[in-house]
Amino acid sequence: MLYSEVASFYSKIESTTKRLEITSILVDMLKRASKDEVGPLAYLTLGKLYPDFVGIEIGLGEKLVERALAKSVGVPLKEVETLYKKTGDLGLVAEQIFKAKAIQQLVQPQPPTVKDVYLTLDKIARSAGGGSQDEKMGWLSGIFGGLTPVGAKYLVRTVMGKLRLGVADMTILDALAEIYAGGDRSLIERAYNLTSDIGQVAESLAESGLEGIKMIKPTPGKPIRPMLAERLKSPEEVLAKLSGKAALEYKYDGERCQAHITHGNVELFSRRLEKITSQFPDVISSIAKHVKASEAIVEGEIVGVDPNTGELMPFQLLMHRRRKYGVEEALEEIPTNIFLFDVMYLNGNDLTQVPYVQRRKALESVVDTSGSVKLATRTLVSDLSTFESFFEEAISDGCEGVMAKDISDASVYQAGARGWLWIKYKRDYKSELADTVDLVIVGAFNGRGKRAGTYGALLLAAYDKAKDEFCTVCKLGSGFSDEELFSLPQKLGDARVERKPARVESLLQPDVWFEPKYVIEVKGAEITLSPIHTAAYGRIKEGAGLAIRFPRTTGKWRTDKAPEDATTTDELVEMYQSQLKKIS
Ligand code: AMP
Repeated sequence: MLYSEVASFYSKIESTTKRLEITSILVDMLKRASKDEVGPLAYLTLGKLYPDFVGIEIGLGEKLVERALAKSVGVPLKEVETLYKKTGDLGLVAEQIFKAKAIQQLVQPQPPTVKDVYLTLDKIARSAGGGSQDEKMGWLSGIFGGLTPVGAKYLVRTVMGKLRLGVADMTILDALAEIYAGGDRSLIERAYNLTSDIGQVAESLAESGLEGIKMIKPTPGKPIRPMLAERLKSPEEVLAKLSGKAALEYKYDGERCQAHITHGNVELFSRRLEKITSQFPDVISSIAKHVKASEAIVEGEIVGVDPNTGELMPFQLLMHRRRKYGVEEALEEIPTNIFLFDVMYLNGNDLTQVPYVQRRKALESVVDTSGSVKLATRTLVSDLSTFESFFEEAISDGCEGVMAKDISDASVYQAGARGWLWIKYKRDYKSELADTVDLVIVGAFNGRGKRAGTYGALLLAAYDKAKDEFCTVCKLGSGFSDEELFSLPQKLGDARVERKPARVESLLQPDVWFEPKYVIEVKGAEITLSPIHTAAYGRIKEGAGLAIRFPRTTGKWRTDKAPEDATTTDELVEMYQSQLKKIS
């Protein structure tokens, strides 16, 4: 099929905005292509040469394209440049000068086919760094010869990365379904969801029809389109929807990531299927070490961990630090954990059609959790009170909520689909405590890495009036300037004591104890239940106290307050309850 013929189909596509019409033009166009042209044509029509995850774009610079045009038509470069300045669209310039040329030229060069165009652009794109500009320009001008004016217009737009026909992947899948599957898109879509590669799907259909499509499996190196969750507003609704029982997993607030393992080599893809391998060298090496499989595709959430408190960090903060200091520098300051929650492919076997419970077992069997690769915390629930307390634990451990997962035999991995097999349940707000709280410093943990030589975090407490005790509510490691941080041991030195002071109630064992003396002002995201802090212990819930989530200091030392004037545990209980009212 000649490229110029394709271009006239592109013209038709551009002349309508109706999706059905576009699909039927695509059907006509794809039917005209030979078997080995269907794949390349699918990519070209999307303005690409490869699936997005390959990360190679055509995008040639305008100078190079101008020179190639001038050379192939035999007009002065100046003329091309002047026309471009006037129109602002090099595609239109190409069309114009090709029209003029067609009148003058007596002998037409051999017109390029779709394949000729694809292979040449492929050669140019792959030679990105190497190959001189002159060489690329030469290759490009070689395929311009013999094009119709419309052909030249679309080729120019394509090489500049500006084709934009308004055709989406799904429209091409519709057209393919029309040609090869009597309009039923399901099998074709499945293959696409497993590979994210429209060219492979098109090529396989052209070569061996639906039988070929059924053979398509997940392939390490090709990202699977992620399974998505529905959302419900209450634990009751979630349980009812999942027939009364479900697996509940922590819903981590991080970056979703698919790790593809092939014989020791690991690649990472984001939720949007982009390669993010270079952003997380720490995740790569821990996956290589701790996932015991020769070939696998696993999925999880990357989360930053505060090395001083061991607590999970809001993802924004992790990314902010990485942008500010660079990946390598930030690694020590904020290491990451990856919490794996699924496995879609393992040692040659497609697990996407296997129920959740078996996939989880398979995942557990290959992950060694002694390092920074962890499994998503989970439990099985069939009653509301277990659901609610697991949810509270998730929140107090720094998560956004829970992900409820269907555990029936039908619970396959639905690549690329949002469905009721996974249901997210999270608090409806991302708040900031309206008020600051004033807390008493009762202990400290020694710093590591960049904080070696000072404290990594302080242990803070609220005052319990009834007991006349100081009960812990959080570990504070954020909000200090470097200078302040390194002055802490000296500043707090006079309050340091050898043993836990009698009036301090703590389940945690810090490296250093302080007698209640210094009061510091703190902001936090919200108040949560926590099994490790003692403030208002057992008052809201058995076995749990109250904690402040994501605490950071405002930098204000409340020297005007005695420790007994600090925020009380009664106040924390009130704050917790008014928070609940806001949610419901
Ligand atoms: P949302 O982004 O709010 O629509 O929630 C869905 C996202 O939660 C997924 O795309 C994952 O990135 C994330 N997530 C966190 N923990 C889990 C988990 N245990 N299972 C599935 N997804 C999870």
